[in-house]
Parts: sequence; structure tokens; C-alpha cells
Amino acid sequence: MADNEKPTPSNKNDNFFNKNPLLAFALFSIAVIMLFKVFVGDEGSFGSKVNGNQATRTQEVSYAELKNLIISKKVQSVEIGQTSIRALGSDEVARTAYTTRRILGEDTSLITLLDTQKIDYSGFNETNWFTEMFGWLFPFLIIIAIWMFFAGRMQKSMGGGILGMGSSKKLVNSEKPKTKFDDVAGVQEAKEEVQEIVDFLKSPGRYVELGAKIPKGVLLVGSPGTGKTLLAKAVAGEAEVPFFSVSGSSFIEMFVGVGAARVRDLFEQAKRDAPSIIFIDEIDAIGKSRAAGGMMGGNDEREQTLNQLLAEMDGFGTDTPVIILAATNRPEILDPALLRPGRFDRQVLVDKPDYQGRIDILNVHIKDVKKDSDVDLEEIARLTAGLAGADLANIINEAALLAGRKNQKTVRLADLREAVERGIAGLSKKSRRIDEKEKRIVAYHESGHALLAETTKGAKKVAKVSIVPRGLAALGYTLNTPEENKYLMQRHELIAEIDVLLGGRAAEEVFIGEISTGAANDLERTTDILKSMVQMYGMSDVAGLMVLEKQRNSFLGGGMSQAKEYSEKMSEAMDNFIKRTLDERYSIVKERLEEYRGAIEKMVELLYSKENITGEQVRAIIEVFEDENNIPTKLSSKKETAQES
Ligand code: ADP
Ligand code: ZN
Repeated sequence: MADNEKPTPSNKNDNFFNKNPLLAFALFSIAVIMLFKVFVGDEGSFGSKVNGNQATRTQEVSYAELKNLIISKKVQSVEIGQTSIRALGSDEVARTAYTTRRILGEDTSLITLLDTQKIDYSGFNETNWFTEMFGWLFPFLIIIAIWMFFAGRMQKSMGGGILGMGSSKKLVNSEKPKTKFDDVAGVQEAKEEVQEIVDFLKSPGRYVELGAKIPKGVLLVGSPGTGKTLLAKAVAGEAEVPFFSVSGSSFIEMFVGVGAARVRDLFEQAKRDAPSIIFIDEIDAIGKSRAAGGMMGGNDEREQTLNQLLAEMDGFGTDTPVIILAATNRPEILDPALLRPGRFDRQVLVDKPDYQGRIDILNVHIKDVKKDSDVDLEEIARLTAGLAGADLANIINEAALLAGRKNQKTVRLADLREAVERGIAGLSKKSRRIDEKEKRIVAYHESGHALLAETTKGAKKVAKVSIVPRGLAALGYTLNTPEENKYLMQRHELIAEIDVLLGGRAAEEVFIGEISTGAANDLERTTDILKSMVQMYGMSDVAGLMVLEKQRNSFLGGGMSQAKEYSEKMSEAMDNFIKRTLDERYSIVKERLEEYRGAIEKMVELLYSKENITGEQVRAIIEVFEDENNIPTKLSSKKETAQES
């Protein structure tokens, strides 16, 4: 699913002013000045108002003219300021304000004239250069104050601020965490994998002397809230080294060049304080594959930041005890350059917890609250299939809040139950609780895959079967052991793969009696395999050795639709072949499932309670079942050893 790969248009708008701070500043200033002018307006300019009477027009006149106006009684009142005189015309229909400059020494004669004409006069305080200046400066002062306020806030969030770009003292979080491995539960394998890093950071000298190559970058892969940050902190805590953390997404909002400078500073600090750990959360935000972004997704800032990161990682040797841990839940979209040797060449899976894992995580977090003796964490673990560690921590906290609201002294089982119910509404899309019915369907579906994988010649062996959801799409999964150095697939191996893929859907039909949408992806793959067998591999009677479709060249317009190079009749024959073969294989698969009914039920039972089972467990169940029912073994592993002896 590609639901959140591209930023929505509104996101882009949010970033607009961040990217163009000067433009924002200019627009903002103009707006303030205009507002100021509207409100404070022409108050200070001469003539428009005299003695509180608004004139409709203003007219500049000479001193002599003004005198004449007074003499001819065209003036109603006069105001005398420090440098100017203004007079209000007596014509009430077209009120005119006359203004003129004062002539020193003329005052007395003017006053005498006004007195004799019995015209009202008074002095007025002119706006002088100071108030005039202030009128202009005031809006600027306001702007500067506001600007400084925002700049200060930005500085807090991105460090360095507007002027001191690049000095990243504040935005890199530096701490010496007290988190230990005991605080991270339910991810045993991941903990074992990072143990080596802890040892190295504790005594780097020993490894360096040996000439051992320590991984520089480790990618922690897993859904949100599974404890990747926590695990990274625990590595630092166990090794007692400083922990520098940044979030990949915070780079995106910055001005071009800041991100790169920040990365440089981050590495400088970490190297200065070595041995140390750098943690980059959400690395996909900067490390998104350039190809995946597409033409429109070009982002200079991201690219510069990424290049700087790559340069920094290449810039120090394996003898510098700085380890870079990065977290992502979508490793497949990362730029391949990030995953090359010497960079993030190691991946550690931080999976969602299974049943036992959830009990362990709940136990870690229940320590923070006072619990009642009736609390049964096993029940809560059963109710929370599909949730991640962060959700479980939330549930405990929510339960404590509920207990507090009810004035209880302790957290009771009922509070936890209620918190689970409440949590469901507030959970993110990415963490979905799996209900019992779904769990049952998924357990049968995956067991079907596993059984077929183990009892079909040419199929890949099972490494792990799981009904813990992974990502958004997969509710469960069956992992195969990868076969290395395998470039060729024989015909029977392709057929075996089809059988294994059909095993999921067939198990739903045979054991539940109803089919679900869960097999969509499996069915797509089976169809693809059969199509390729006809079109490319010459493995069908439809086209014989004739190739209907050239192998796609991924460099030259791969994936683009090509014109069909074969007849309608051929196309129809191919469809028939695919349909016929699928039907054939499907009934064979169903027969196999019927034959191994007891084994499937055992697997489902185990899977249902533990949520994860290993390939060995699957094989053991099948072996026992075959022995008990006197079925000649179909287990490929067992047959091989039988043949050898
Ligand atoms: P991520 O980095 O994978 O998104 P976090 O490490 O930030 O997840 O997890 C958030 C919080 O959830 C942690 O601080 C912790 O309280 C809790 N949590 C998540 N996973 C675990 C876990 N495996 N064990 C214990 N607590 C966990
Ligand atoms: Zn499936």
C-alpha cells in the first residue's frame, strides 16, 4: 500500500513560508504597514480637519491669499501651528481647508486682522518630525518584535535559528539514557542482535586490536510503537555511552542547507564524545529512494541532507566507536545507497509482540502503577492481539487514569479491560487489534501455507509462521528459509510454489467452510507465475517454446505496457490454461489438507495461543501426525535423510 508516500498538497503549503522566509517577512511587513495606515491614517496630515470640522477638500494658498480670505470673511475659523496655519472655509456646502506656511513676524498683524473680523482662532500642536518618524517606525518596531518572537520559537525547534543556521546545539537531543535491556520486552531476537554493539561500545579497544569489523550503521525495522527508539536508548544505556538523537522528518521543514549542516554537527558531536550512539528516527523521511520520489518529489533539502549523511558515514573508519542506529517501518522505500556495505548494511527486525511478548511488555509497564491482586495480564495479552508495545504502555496508563478518576487505591483488572476497549477507538490505523474470529481465520490460512510448504517436493522450507500482523496489509505471514545462490527454478519448483500459495485459501475453505479476502495477494502471485510459465519460460502446451512476452528490462521503460505480440486465440488459450491449472492444483492442495487435517488442527491450536511458531515446530507436528496415522512421510527433510541411509 502506498497511502502515505507522497506529501499531500496541504503539507506542501505548510512548508511554503518555511522555505521562503524572506518573502514571508516582506509580505508580512507590507500587511502591517497597510493596516497601520488604515487605522492611524491621515490623522497627522494638515488641513483635512480644522477645529474638529472635517473639510471635504484641502487647498494650499499663499499667506497673502489667506489674508484676503480672512478679510473677505470667506473663513470661519483659523488654527495656528508652529510652522503652518490652516483655516476652515465658511462655505458649508463645499467645506475647504486652506493651509499656508507661517511667516515669522507676521503673527501680530494676522491676529489683529482676525480680531477685527471676529474670526475664531486658536493654536494647534503640529505633528513634528519626531511624531512623524515615530509614526513610521512604530509598525517596524512591532514587526521586529513579532519576528524575534517567531525566530526564537523556530530556534527552539530547529536550533541555530535564522541567523545561526547550522549550529545545532539545541536540536540534537543529547542524553545519557538510563534505559536498560530489561525495559525492552518482547523483542528477544532484536536484543540479541544488538548485544554485540553494546560489547563494542563498552570496550572498543579490544575489537579494534583484533581488527574486527563492527557494523557502522544498523537499521531497526518495525511498525510504529514497537520499541525501536526504546531499544536504541537501551543500547546506549547498557553501554553507558551518550545518545544523540534526531528525527528524519524534522529535516524536511528546514531551509536548504540547514539539514546538511545539522548532520555535520551531529556527527562532530558524536565523534567528540565517542564512544557514542547516533539515533536517527524516521530515516525514511530523508532516505527515501530518489526513484521512489519521482520527478515531482524532488526535494533539494532532503537530497542534500541524505548526501551529507552518506558522506559522514563514509568519513570515519570502523575504529571510531560511533554507531549509527536508524529506525524505519518501510525499509523497502529507502535509497539503496543507504544500505550499501559500510552504511546501514545490517537490519534488525523489531516486530510487534506475540502473546508471550505482550505479557512481558505489560509486566514492564505495570511496575509503574499500583496494581490490584486481581490483575491478570494474561487476559489482557489475549485481548490485545495485534497491538504494539506503545499501545500496551498506553493501555496501562489509561487504566491508571481510570482508577484515579474512580478514587481507587489500585488499578484493577476491570480498569485494564475498560482501557483496552477505550484504546481501540484511539489507536492509530497502523495498530489494529485483531479479534478472535480474524485470528482463527488467519491461523488456518497460514497453517495451510506451512503444511503445503513442508509436504511438497521442491517447496521452500518454513522458517517461521506468524499471525502477528505486519505492516498494514499482512495479517499473518509464513516465512521461508531463503535459498542462497539459486538462480534457476525448475518447473516442479514453480508448481510447488503455486501449491504453497494456494494452501492458504484452501485451508480457509476446508476448515472454516467460508473463504475470505485474505488470499488476494496469494492469488495474484499464482496467476503471475502461471502467466510467466506460458509467456516467458516455454513451460506450457499453449505456446510451446514460443515466447509471448520479452523479459522486461528494468532500465528501459520496464513496467510500461507493451503491445501484445500474439493473437487473440493465443490469449484465450493462455487464459484457459491458467484457469485449468489453478483448478487442478487447488483440488490437489485441498486433498492434501484433508489428509493432514489433524496436523493442521494442531498447528492452529499452537499458533492461536502463541501467535508465532517456528519451522521446527511445524515439522515436528507433521512428523508426529504421519507416524500416528501411518502416512508415508512427505516431509522433504525426512525423505532426504531416509534416502541417504
Ligand atoms: P518506536 O520507536 O518503535 O516507534 P518507541 O520506542 O518510541 O517506538 O515506543 C514508545 C513507547 O512504547 C516506549 O517508550 C515504551 O514505553 C513503549 N514500548 C514500545 N515497545 C516496547 C517494548 N518492546 N517493551 C517495552 N515498552 C515498549
Ligand atoms: Zn496467504
